[in-house]
Amino acid sequence: MKLNIVEYPDKRLKTISKEVKLFDDKLHDLLDSMYPLMINTNGIGLAAIQVSHAVRVLVLNIPDDDGEQPAENILEIINPVITHKNGETLYQEGCLSVPKFYEDIKRYETVSINYQDRNGNTKTLEADGLLAIAIQHEMDHLEGILFIDKLSYSRRKKFEKEYKRMLKERKES
Ligand SMILES: [Zn+2]
Repeated sequence: MKLNIVEYPDKRLKTISKEVKLFDDKLHDLLDSMYPLMINTNGIGLAAIQVSHAVRVLVLNIPDDDGEQPAENILEIINPVITHKNGETLYQEGCLSVPKFYEDIKRYETVSINYQDRNGNTKTLEADGLLAIAIQHEMDHLEGILFIDKLSYSRRKKFEKEYKRMLKERKES
């Protein structure tokens, strides 16, 4: 499956993604296509809506202590629901759909989720550190929310200005 990353300000990113009901070849093809795209674009997480598929599907691979992302560390998360959340943490986030922009975002420090794997089996996961942050960032995509939507008014204005300039420069080069 050929996939392209949808970038802000594309309105598709505001879509609320639908629950997956069929754990079929089409879903597996989507997952198998999202994963290499995420790795090739240096991402640690990707939601299906970022490749224009409005379904509740995420792939994640958090770099290990050596900064590597071995394929066996892939997490395929379908229909996730947060069951517990705790604490507070601040982390400089970025997003494949908002290239070259990074901002400190407040998140829960730990989260537990229920989700399904590619075959529809129910799983639970307790996450902390970067994984917990990435799960919350990617789950926001399922609701049509981007990390820049969490910025204060003045930081959002600054972002709009910088982003417009970046898009203009990209068009000219
Ligand atoms: Zn993102």
